[in-house]
Amino acid sequence: MTRPSLLTLEEQCAHKGMRMTDQRRVIAQVIESAIDHPDVEELYRRASAVDPRISLSTVYRTLALFEEAGLVTKHDFRDGRARFEPIPDEHHDHLIDIRSGKVIEFRNEEIEAIQELIAKRLGYRLVDHRLELYAVPIAAEDKS
Ligand SMILES: [Zn+2]
Repeated sequence: MTRPSLLTLEEQCAHKGMRMTDQRRVIAQVIESAIDHPDVEELYRRASAVDPRISLSTVYRTLALFEEAGLVTKHDFRDGRARFEPIPDEHHDHLIDIRSGKVIEFRNEEIEAIQELIAKRLGYRLVDHRLELYAVPIAAEDKS
């Protein structure tokens, strides 16, 4: 959801030397404008609404290409669907509402620091991590 601040996904593809067809351009724009971590079928629905010639297999292939180029990342939020988002400039983690399927992005500096510390204590320098919180909404009367 967090947009890369400098270049659009389309521009990043061009910088990687990727040949940008009209269809790839549409798919790049659809991924970039999504704020909900859509899956392949949903991306296909949105892309084919813009250009009806775009097929599901083109969306699959294009996503694989973007992923391979390090421009898009895939998530598994345990609902059996692979979700996609552009790789953001600044790292973030996700909280998944398991009732509604809503995905909330967050970043917490204490968690970031603790993870680095854990890796360090184990003799490693942390280069990446993924953190997913699976949660249910607190009912209004339970909130403290
Ligand atoms: Zn995200």
